[in-house]
Amino acid sequence: MKLENIREIKGTIKLLTGLHIGAGNEVIEIGGLDQPIIKHPISHEPYIPGSSLKGKMRSSLELYLGRYGENGGPCQCGKPDCPVCTLFGVSGSKKEKESEIEGPTRIAVRDAYMTNKFKEDFDSGELPMEIKYENIINRISGTAEHPRPLERVPADVEFTLNISLKEFDIDKEKKFMNTVLACLRLVEKDGLGGSISRGCGQVKFEIEGIENWEEKAKAQLNKLESSNGD
Ligand SMILES: [Zn+2]
Repeated sequence: MKLENIREIKGTIKLLTGLHIGAGNEVIEIGGLDQPIIKHPISHEPYIPGSSLKGKMRSSLELYLGRYGENGGPCQCGKPDCPVCTLFGVSGSKKEKESEIEGPTRIAVRDAYMTNKFKEDFDSGELPMEIKYENIINRISGTAEHPRPLERVPADVEFTLNISLKEFDIDKEKKFMNTVLACLRLVEKDGLGGSISRGCGQVKFEIEGIENWEEKAKAQLNKLESSNGD
């Protein structure tokens, strides 16, 4: 097995609606928001962790192909013909040992930071984060109760997209590049981060150097669907 190429998928992630990627409970400050977004510990700027985007790409592909693990967890089949396990990896020492896949996890998804224009606005205080109040409606009285403030990166903000894909000689037939595009298309159709069902997290990807990438993605989705389970 020989590494032939490391390809890069670069572009922007544009927010069509506010984005909420939660920081997790461990960082809640006393008197702070109860649903803060994740921010860089030093610059305090919001960002999209690579693990969040990668996880969403993976779970979207798993759902599309109906290839997921026990209890709805990630596919860990470790079969060489599984695009999910080959592209995104198999985790857990036991599963890793049992895996029949040759070579390392093919993709790496970098943390996505705001593009320069938005970073400058943020640094100068001109890009405040948005606070959205989510109410629970009391079914009997019809009034709103317990508003929970949800922090979001406002719509229209752009982040840089950077994914690298390792291509080995044994991968030639598999068109993994198109599968990565297909995953991004699925994320566009669903969303990124939390509270998607309440309107958050709609994104659009713009990919440098690939015009009409959505068409390639669509064709690959059809192809994957028809070859799935053979
Ligand atoms: Zn698998």
